[in-house]
Parts: sequence; C-alpha cells; structure tokens
Amino acid sequence: MSGSPAVLMRLVASCYTVSERAGAIVRKVLHSGELGIVEKTGADDLQTLADRLAQQSICASLSRRFPKITIIGEEELPAEEIKEEIIESGLSEEILLKTCPEEYSDLKEEELVVWVDPLDGTKEYTEASRCLHHRTEARHQTKGLLDNVTVLIGIAHGGRAIAGVIHQPFYNYELGAGAALGRTLWGIPGLGAFGFELQEVPGGRRVVTTTRSHSNKLVTDCVDAMEPHEVVRVGGAGNKIIQLVEGRASAYVFASPGCKKWDTCATEAILHAVGGKLTDMHGNAYRYDANVKHMNSAGVLATLRNHEYYVSRVPQSVLQALKSG
Ligand code: AMP
Ligand code: MG
Ligand code: MG
Repeated sequence: MSGSPAVLMRLVASCYTVSERAGAIVRKVLHSGELGIVEKTGADDLQTLADRLAQQSICASLSRRFPKITIIGEEELPAEEIKEEIIESGLSEEILLKTCPEEYSDLKEEELVVWVDPLDGTKEYTEASRCLHHRTEARHQTKGLLDNVTVLIGIAHGGRAIAGVIHQPFYNYELGAGAALGRTLWGIPGLGAFGFELQEVPGGRRVVTTTRSHSNKLVTDCVDAMEPHEVVRVGGAGNKIIQLVEGRASAYVFASPGCKKWDTCATEAILHAVGGKLTDMHGNAYRYDANVKHMNSAGVLATLRNHEYYVSRVPQSVLQALKSG
C-alpha cells in the first residue's frame, strides 16, 4: 500500500465534512424563515433556498478537490459564481485513518460518480418551517419532522453504490438549546458503517416504513400486502434508511416512482455495509452509472434482513404497474 490514502477514502473523508457544512446551511436557512420555495413538478415536489445553497456548496467543494469526478446533483441550477465562503475544504481525519478495502484501493478519480441530494425530505422541511415561523401555537407539530431531513452523498463505481454519507442536520434538536445539533452516518461495504449503533427490530416484528407525503393506492396496497405489525410513515429516503439500521423499521416499502438515484445511492451503500439490501419492487438492483435514468421507476424496497420475504409479498398489481429496467 502506498503512503497516501486511497482516492475513495479521501473522497469519503471530504464528503463527510462537506455534508456537515451543507447541514449548517440547511439549519441557517430554516432559522432565517426565508425559504424561497419553488415548485418543481408540482406542490409535492419542492425546492428551497436550502436545497440550492447546499447543493452549490457540496458540488463546488467536491469538484474543487476532485476535478475529474462526475458529480450529479438533484437540483437544476443556473451556472453562477459560487461564493468562496460556502466552499468546504476539510477532510475527516477519522476516515483518513481507516484502511480502504482492497477491491477499492486502486480506483481512479475519473471512474467515480457522486450522487448528491443536498436536502432529502424537503416537503417535511417546509412544513416544519411553517409551524415554527407562522403558527407559533403549532410548534409542537414539528415534533419529529426535522429529523426527516438529511443530506445524502453517495459514491458509485462500475454502476454499484460503494460508499455513502448521510448527514442529519437537526439530530438532537428536540433536546433544546445547548445540545450539539447534527450527526453524520457513513459506510463502505467491506469496511463497515459508522456514526450510529446497528440495531434490529426486536422479536422479528414486521415494521414497515413508507412515505408520509407521496402516497397513493399502489403504495398502500403494497404496504398492506407485507402484513405489517406496524406501519411508520416518515419523510425522506435517508431518514427511512436510518429507521432500518437503528431498529425502528424492518422494511422500507415504496411501490411507486418518485425516488431518484440521489435518494438511494448513499443509503444503499450504508445499508449494504451492514448486510442489508435495497432493490426495486421486483428484487432487482439499481445501477448508478453516470448515464442512468434518474428515476427509480420500479419503486424502492429496502431491508436489513429477510429481503426475500418482502419481495415475495409484492402484489402482482404492483409488479405489473412498476416494470424493472
Ligand atoms: P418520501 O418517502 O415521500 O419522503 O420520498 C423519498 C424521496 O423521494 C424524497 O426525496 C422525495 O422528494 C422523493 N419522492 C418520492 N415520491 C415523489 C413524488 N411523487 N414526487 C417527487 N418526489 C418524490
Ligand atoms: Mg430526496
Ligand atoms: Mg432533495
């Protein structure tokens, strides 16, 4: 092994600090109360100033240090001068000290694709802001909503998700003033996953987590077909993967198009690092090459264990409506 860390480890070390900087931007915009909301495809598909600024910060920071990497961000933004103050140049020392798995130790910068969701759970972010700033009597309604918000940075090679960072900027916000806000989870299959304690749902109960703001009949029919003991409706793809790895859900079931590659690249990598699985509703893997279609048209099925059980329960109507590929 050469003396300097492998490109992958330097990239993940950079993504870690870059995601934290993006999280600080997401918090700052919330506190300002000026969200600058824009509807993309409709009222359930929003973009805020936080999505825009966080993406600019992430993409500019990563491309400055790794100019040959392909970076694909969720938001379509006009090319404009980036303010120097939003560039993050730090690297996580803790990550640089870890040994890169052998199979990734010789990867080249130009072979890597980075998928960026600067703010996952935008719908819940805007709802929380409304409660905080415009209806003081409804402050308690933000309960849990801000935990739905994450920053997702996924790294792919050869079409596979090989590393992921999930930053949760409002983690601990319910503890009130004085608590350190935010945490960062990351993982590389073959190395492990860090920043949380892996837990499973006790007693083999089937707890299904699904969307709270993008539901439809196909989604609910499919959840019912899993015969869950409990259903947990929360926002964000990143947040739902956190539910899985921390033992609050056993499957993430979303039988609908809507999730995109930037929602699933980071999350799939972390899930794989702890032995879990993320596929479409047919049980087929998604690919993360630079030229793939962004939409995960055949839905998302993610589990920590017993993936085959959940695949086997998917109704025919769902399989017919959501074609793989
Ligand atoms: P959810 O579970 O509803 O929070 O969705 C997870 C991710 O997929 C978020 O980034 C959503 O914005 C996205 N998503 C899911 N369904 C849709 C939809 N119908 N339109 C736009 N984005 C969606
Ligand atoms: Mg998202
Ligand atoms: Mg987003």
